[in-house]
Order: sequence, then C-alpha cells, then structure tokens
Amino acid sequence: MYTNDVLERSFQQINAILARETPLMDAYQELEPLILELLGAERMSIFQRRLQHQDLVARFKTGKETKEIKVPISPLSIAGYVALSQLPLIINDPYDSHELAQIHPRLRFADRFDKNSTFKTNSILCIPILNAGVMMGVLQIINKKSGQFDDADLRVATKLADVIGAKFRYELGGTSAPFDYLVHLNLISDKVLKELTETSSDDKQLIQRLQSEQRITDEQIGKALSVHYQVPYISYLPDKYHPYQSDSKLNASYLKRNCVAVIADANENIIVLLAEPNNAALLMEIERALGIDSYDIAVGIPNQILQYLGGGGSGGAPGEMNEILDEIGTSADEKDDQIDELSDDAPAIVRLVSRILHDAKRLNASDIHIDPEKSGPTRVRMRVDGVCRDMNQVPASHHSAVIARIKIMSNLNIAEKRVPQDGKLAFRTGGQLVEVRVASIPTVAGEGVVMRILASGGAMPIDKMNVAPNNRTRLEEMIKKPHGILLVVGPTGSGKTTTLHAILGYLNTPEKKIWTAEDPVEITQAGLQQVQVSPKIGFTFANALRAFLRADPDIILIGEMRDKETAHAGIEASLTGHLVLSTLHTNSAPETITRLLDLGLDPVNFSDACVGILAQRLIRTLCTNCKEAEPATDAERQFIYRQYGEEYIDELHLSEPLMVHRAKGCEACGDTGYKGRTGVHELLGMTPELRSLVYKEASVAQMKAQAMKDGMRTLVQDAIYKVIKGDTDIAQVQILGGD
Ligand SMILES: [Zn+2]
Repeated sequence: MYTNDVLERSFQQINAILARETPLMDAYQELEPLILELLGAERMSIFQRRLQHQDLVARFKTGKETKEIKVPISPLSIAGYVALSQLPLIINDPYDSHELAQIHPRLRFADRFDKNSTFKTNSILCIPILNAGVMMGVLQIINKKSGQFDDADLRVATKLADVIGAKFRYELGGTSAPFDYLVHLNLISDKVLKELTETSSDDKQLIQRLQSEQRITDEQIGKALSVHYQVPYISYLPDKYHPYQSDSKLNASYLKRNCVAVIADANENIIVLLAEPNNAALLMEIERALGIDSYDIAVGIPNQILQYLGGGGSGGAPGEMNEILDEIGTSADEKDDQIDELSDDAPAIVRLVSRILHDAKRLNASDIHIDPEKSGPTRVRMRVDGVCRDMNQVPASHHSAVIARIKIMSNLNIAEKRVPQDGKLAFRTGGQLVEVRVASIPTVAGEGVVMRILASGGAMPIDKMNVAPNNRTRLEEMIKKPHGILLVVGPTGSGKTTTLHAILGYLNTPEKKIWTAEDPVEITQAGLQQVQVSPKIGFTFANALRAFLRADPDIILIGEMRDKETAHAGIEASLTGHLVLSTLHTNSAPETITRLLDLGLDPVNFSDACVGILAQRLIRTLCTNCKEAEPATDAERQFIYRQYGEEYIDELHLSEPLMVHRAKGCEACGDTGYKGRTGVHELLGMTPELRSLVYKEASVAQMKAQAMKDGMRTLVQDAIYKVIKGDTDIAQVQILGGD
C-alpha cells in the first residue's frame, strides 16, 4: 500500500538527487535504496539507451568496480523487449518459459546472473523510460518482498520512470520535439516553427515546408531528427547502403506506407531506416517480419527513405534509377577515382542519363540540373511546376562520365571544360520526340549541366487556358481584329509562349498566313511558318519581321520586343494591316504602356495600333485528388474581400458559407497538395477613353483606373476568382503579391 505522504516524501528525495548536476549513474547508489524501499523490492537496474546505438546499458558498482551489462533492444531479453515494445511488463516467474512465450515467442530470461550467485529472481517489474515519446531506457525492479507486483506498483514505477526519463533527456542533450534543434541552431525561430508545425498535417509535410519555405537542408533536418530520436541519421547514399534482400513478409507497399526501408551496408549490417524511430508498434511488426536478432535503427527523411524503396519510375528501357545506381555503386569501389565514359561502366552511365531524361519527361519537369558538389555526390534536381526538387544523387566518382555523356549527346566539346557551352539533344519517349536545350557551366566544384526540356507537341487549346469568362469574351474580340498589336507580358516562366501559341492555334485556319519568329521554337504547329531567330549571327527579331512583311503575312508573332527597333517595327507592321502578337518582360498591363513610351515609341501610333495587353503569371493548382473544401476562416474571408475589392466583390457571387479549398497531400501529388499550374490573367483593352489617356502620357495609376472601369481585373483579382473556383488556395495568391 502506498500512502500519499510516503509517496510524496520519497519522490521529494528522489527528485532532489536527480536535480543535482551529477549524472544519474553516479547517483545510482543513493537512489537505489530509496526506490527499493518505496517499492518493497530486492534489486533494481536502470538501463540507459546508448546514444546512437540499438542497445541498452546498465552500470552498477560492486565495491570499487563498476560493472556494465549491455542488452540489445530486441525480444531476446526482458529489458530489451520492454525497450522495443515500449510497454511495461510484470513477470511473475521468469523461469516459466510458457509465461514468457505468451508475451513473445522469442522472449528469454537471462539467468546467467542468478547462476553466478546465490540470488534467485522470482518476479520482475519492467518499465520503459520514455521522454517526449522517445525511448531513453528501461527501469527494472526485481523480487517483490511480499506478494506479487501489482498495478499499484506499476503506477509508482511508471512515475519513477518519468522523472528518470527527464533526467536522461537532460543528460543526453535531447530535444523535446523533432525539430527543436533547428531553433537551437538559429535556423528558424521558435515562433515560425510553431506556426509551421500547427499548420502542417504531419511531420512529412512539415519537413517539406522546412525545406521549401525555410531553405533548411536535408543534413540539418537529419541532424535535428537524430538529436531528438537519439539514433543516427542516414541520408540517401546508394553507393553506401543497399536494400536488404530478405524473404520477409515486408512488401513494398507496406514499407512505403509506413515510410520504412530495411537497408544494409557493405558488411551486410542490417539497418532499419524509419521516419519515426519511436514508433514501437511499427518496429515490433518489422522485427517480427524480419525475424533477425540484430539490426540497427536509424532515422531518415521520408523522401530519402522512399528513394531506397525505389521511389517512382515507370519501368521501361533504361531500367530503374536505383538499379542503375546500384550497378554503378558496386562496380566502383575506389572513391574519387575518375573513370572515363569508355570504361566498363559506360553502358550503365548511358542508361543512367537516359533514365534521368525519361524521369524528367514523366514528371513533366521543365529543367534538369546536374550540380557538382565540392565534396560528396552529385545532385540531380528537377524543376516541376516551377519548383526545384531533389531527385537523385550520383556518386562523385561518376560525375565526369555523366557530364561527358550529356555533352556527347548534345554535340558539345567534351575536352573543353573551362568555358560554358550550349547545345541541344533530343530523345524519344513513348513515340514522342523530346527536345532538350543543354548548357554546360564550369563551377569551382566541377562542370555542371542545366537542361531545359522544350515543350513538345502542339499548342494548348485556348479552352484549356483557364481564362475567366469576362476575359475570354474580350480576348476573342481583340484577336478577331484584322490588324493591331496584342502584347502578352510577364516575367520569364510566366507561360507567355504557351498563351501565344494557344491564341495562334485558335486563329490558325487555312485562309490565314501566319509567320512566327521565335527564340527558341519550343512549340510547333502545323500550318504555321515558324522561324528560329539567331541574334548571334545577326538574324534578329527585327530582321525576321522585315522579311515576313515581304512574304504576304496575315498574322505575325514576334517572340519578344527586346528593343526599340523591334517594338517600332512591330507597331509599323500592325498599322499596315497585320495582326501582330508579341511579348514584353513587364509586370502589369498598364505598366507596359509606360515602358513602351519610355522606349521612345510614339504614343499616338502605339495607342492606335494596340488592341490589348494581357499580363499573366502561373500559379500552382491544388491536387484534384486530395484537395478539400472547408469554410473560409475570418482571416481568409477578409483577405478575399480586401484583395478583390469591396466595390467588385459582388460580381463573384460568393456563396454562404464561403468555401475555400486547401492543399492536403496524397500519393498523386507527392504529398505536396499541389499538382500542375494554371495561368492568372490581367487583360487590358484599348478603349477610346484609355487611348486618350495614352495620348496625354498619363500616369500608370490613371491608366489602371480607366482600364478597370473598362473591365480589366488585376492578376490578384483573377487569382482570387480561381481560389473561389477551387483551382488554387490563398497561399498561391499571397505568393503572387497579395498581402
Ligand atoms: Zn494530392
């Protein structure tokens, strides 16, 4: 029986001892009699988990000597089993193998201590020592003096384990949450980490946001996880670790779902790599399926764990990335020993490059980056939906061979490694020819390569452009005019070329002669006469335009109005009876007018020629497979009203309750919650009222106000419309510049 004041007094004494700066193991001799008296038991052991090891160690003094027992965290011992399962255990007779077998078929009692002394173990109370959900050790109490251990003993022992756990955590310098160490390193503020944690659905999403929004590296995240979970961090190192082959019941989908990889090093030491190494239930399942006695545990980042499991790949000719990397890994034992592309590895290198290209096309990536690192493996990254993602690592020893292979494919000089080179290559996938622009750039870490995958195939139909109805009607009126100039404006990568080709596709009929001058020609359409300009050899946009005017055109596309000469020639062409389409690197439609006037264009000529200006951006769209509609919060409602403007908000016909969609994340979208992109548009129409303002060279603000009166809506307003429509979320509007 435990009375309250006995408990209170004992815990006061125990806490006082633990509060001292001395390590717990040094205070053990003081602690032991107190705990044994409290629980009415004969002996005890405190096992501490060894930092970064998959075992427990108990130390005790006999006389002047300190003895140590090490016990693996496995079902082969009682303390090991409690550490593995993280569940307390009362054993009434450790010599009863039937009682043990009911707990776990392989559970054994280590009787060698009894055998070497006169002591006999009769009963055991064994409690896991946990802190912040992480297993820190095991408290084992032996032989209740009168009767058997019961639930009351269990409760008291659990309370003891709690205070010991806090002491262990303090001693080991552990953190109380997985990413606290990042705050400690000043990589992120406590406040931002809290916000991110609260608004992320799970650790997986949180890690992705730490990487993408806070620019925290894999290594830093791995270190934080390692400090918290007290196990080593292992990144994706295919040249060091390989998947452990066993005939276990662990199938790939189970491992993927639980984010676990069973890997082995060169000496076949088995490592269970988990995203959540404190998940005891999962560890127990894996332990049972593997049926092995010894393995280490390590923590990994979900994406990297999935890479060990062979993340992605659609099969097919080049072979899976991991298989190829494995093959390369096993045939290259000597690190840093550069091999050339003619060595025995060449076929694997050829397939590796081919796999990278096919993966990029499959993921709909726009760019591939092969980045050399000063020390360590080469990083392969791909830009998908405008965001760069880490894809693979190539062993540093194969960097030169990979670069050489790409340079050969794109007809570059492989011997020249000191100056940047540009080239092109093409490959075939699914019967489709894909063109790739290649740039090699020497860096201090070695030669890097950036490849731009040129959009292949035909133009996007105008109906797929996701143009708001009001914009669509006005845009059609503009492009149906027999002459005039329409400008599509926005920064690089805002989808201007796609939009222009969608418009050309709409206008492309046999009775129209269409000429285009582009740099480069990315999209081809039957029926168009497309010309690649080459300023390097003096074939400029302005030259091309002059040539077109002698070739009986109806519609002319000029890739970009880079200078006054081109802009002037474009306006002249439109005033002489042609429809001219072109682009400019300006931010908004009204700003484009002042930019052109600043270039020195005549305001009267320009405003007479111009039929409209379409500013656009691309924003990410929510994954249609996992997006969820929820009522807008007050803050979101205010944001929508403020950004759309009170005077315009009625035209959105908002429903009540006001619903917005949120990114969740699923397999289809790589757990990002987003898939694909869509355009947002700001379409300025040249009306007589606006024209008179251009004549007067009025301010951007005045012209914008008039354009809005005439029906223009801003990029942010169009984005809000697409939030209400469920295409995207408010975060994407904020990226666009709403506040
Ligand atoms: Zn999804």
